Amino acid sequence: MGFKFFTYIYINISVFFITLRPKILVMSIDKQLILDKRYLRMAAIWAENSYCKRRRVGALIVKDKMIISDGYNGTPAGFENICEDENGETKPYVLHAEANAITKIACSNNNSKNATLYITASPCIECAKLIIQAGIKRVVYSEKYRLSDGIELLERAMIEILYIGKDELDGG
Ligand SMILES: [Zn+2]
Repeated sequence: MGFKFFTYIYINISVFFITLRPKILVMSIDKQLILDKRYLRMAAIWAENSYCKRRRVGALIVKDKMIISDGYNGTPAGFENICEDENGETKPYVLHAEANAITKIACSNNNSKNATLYITASPCIECAKLIIQAGIKRVVYSEKYRLSDGIELLERAMIEILYIGKDELDGG
């Protein structure tokens, strides 16, 4: 009797969790997507800090639900706040937004291991190398760059990549 009763309870609990599990999973995926969009919108706002005229890019690094770093494209600290030379070309020493965000952590007590990088434009190959070496495990971006070699390198390094188009960013 007792055994049967516990078997009955066990089966019911199992059925309950089996049917509930996909819902829990879907809910957490939705929640993550909402957060991803919010962080990307924040990165887009952060790009407004850039004094570069040709292109403004913003980046955020999030770890354990905390923004641990931020960056936008610009010249190194202490240099003039002008990105372009007299011909309108970007100066070779301008740092990309994600390079600024990663190197900012190098100056802090934190680290980017297993963090997520939010970036308004897809990373170039030089930044992709830094992302891999910084231990970043996830990259969420919203604007495709004309070259895809950066993204391809990240894929080779098994980094999770999520593209959210600009038109999908609003709401949520
Ligand atoms: Zn770059």
